Amino acid sequence: MMSTSMSSRKNVIVLDGGTGTSLAKLGHSVEDVTWCSELIKTHPHHVKKVHKDYFMAGADVVCSSTYQAFVDGFVQQFAVSEQEALSLIRRGVELAKEARDEAELKTGRHGFVAASVGAYGATLCDRSEYSGVYVDNMSREELYSWHLPRMRVLWDAGPDLLACETIPALEEALALVQCLETLKVKAWLTFSLKDAKSTAHGEDIRVALAAVVSSPCIVAVGANCFSLALVDGFLRYVKDLPLFDKPLIIKPNAENSEHDKSLTKKFKIHERVVDWVDGGACWIGGCCATDSMDIACPQSGIRANI
Ligand SMILES: [Zn+2]
Repeated sequence: MMSTSMSSRKNVIVLDGGTGTSLAKLGHSVEDVTWCSELIKTHPHHVKKVHKDYFMAGADVVCSSTYQAFVDGFVQQFAVSEQEALSLIRRGVELAKEARDEAELKTGRHGFVAASVGAYGATLCDRSEYSGVYVDNMSREELYSWHLPRMRVLWDAGPDLLACETIPALEEALALVQCLETLKVKAWLTFSLKDAKSTAHGEDIRVALAAVVSSPCIVAVGANCFSLALVDGFLRYVKDLPLFDKPLIIKPNAENSEHDKSLTKKFKIHERVVDWVDGGACWIGGCCATDSMDIACPQSGIRANI
């Protein structure tokens, strides 16, 4: 614990945790075609509350609940026009910004909003975002054309940056980078992992991170939606990878997430955070089954432990 320098601790940015998990705790089912994005239309006050709770608990950055928001999904779910679907996607970012502004009035701390961009596979509702198997049958151009309009709408809603999350395959990451370069916007990009050394689709994670981090549009890279048990191995594996001084992100799942059923030794994010900062992680948050208590609780959250 003593080996973590004060400067590296000071540089830690606290990200948020699971949005779906927090919304489920408010009594919502998040199993629909657009996951928790439909709550942007049906329960916007709850979406805003979840974002605000993270800011109030000390998160520096919150992701909008747009991970699985997509035009066809909203059209199908709500029988709305394409234009209305696009406004709902935009509304998702606005809710996070309103939460940020309300929290800032109370805390005096400025927060940031990242507009969440999920993998194409997340919209197929067949869990293929955890395998990336669809990239074997799609060209980069097809992935680019699918992602670009949604990313444009998300950016037009005025977030501080985009967050390309749970990206299972290098090919999709490269399509996303191409979109960012077309739109000339900034983003972080995090891969989902199969093991400590591979993306969910099986590429070497060092190769995948190196391929995206060189883009001027990418401000930080890393991994999300992976087992807590893999964090140490992942950090060891990528430790000497040149990242051009860009921060390394980790957003693992909580010990009780369905991805972590095989964990034999149970622990919480905050118990390991100092070692992860020592290991090179700089932007730290949580993914599935994490909530504001895991992330930013004054007594037991990340910030209290660094
Ligand atoms: Zn997750």
